[in-house]
Amino acid sequence: MSAIQKNLVEKNEEYASKFTKGHLALPPAKAYLVLTCMDARIDPAAAFGIDLGDAHVIRNAGASAKDAQRSIIISEQLLGTKEILLVKHTGCDMLTFSNEDAHGLVKKNLGASAAAEIGTLNFLPFSDLEQAVRDDVEFIKKTETIPKDVTVSGWVYEVETGKVKQIV
Ligand SMILES: [Zn+2]
Repeated sequence: MSAIQKNLVEKNEEYASKFTKGHLALPPAKAYLVLTCMDARIDPAAAFGIDLGDAHVIRNAGASAKDAQRSIIISEQLLGTKEILLVKHTGCDMLTFSNEDAHGLVKKNLGASAAAEIGTLNFLPFSDLEQAVRDDVEFIKKTETIPKDVTVSGWVYEVETGKVKQIV
């Protein structure tokens, strides 16, 4: 067992020994979803006030609405969420590379077959953080896959201070 696996087992034993929330319903109690980045410095439950069972938290590289589209549809159509909080953050890795860079790394590190497998995959990097928030909120508002009565807002979380700032 790796050290990481051992940590999971030990910490989970501790967690499960005090666990009392086994009765929670499947649909999020507060009917909203948070879309944020996978960045290790973000603790959505603590930083955004999400109690267990209250909301869906969708995470991917850069908090991309396009990348999250499948999960957003499931959240809203099958599990009844009605509001979206989109939270990108300062110091995001998505600000540091281009599609060309990412494709170059795949080819160099993983080989030609891997490069062929991903084809022209868009890694969805961005160069302007606040504009990227506005663009993704725009995408959510425009796509036919998300109902027009869903409330959408866009935020930036500062990894340096722990504070959120509303952009739209
Ligand atoms: Zn990020």
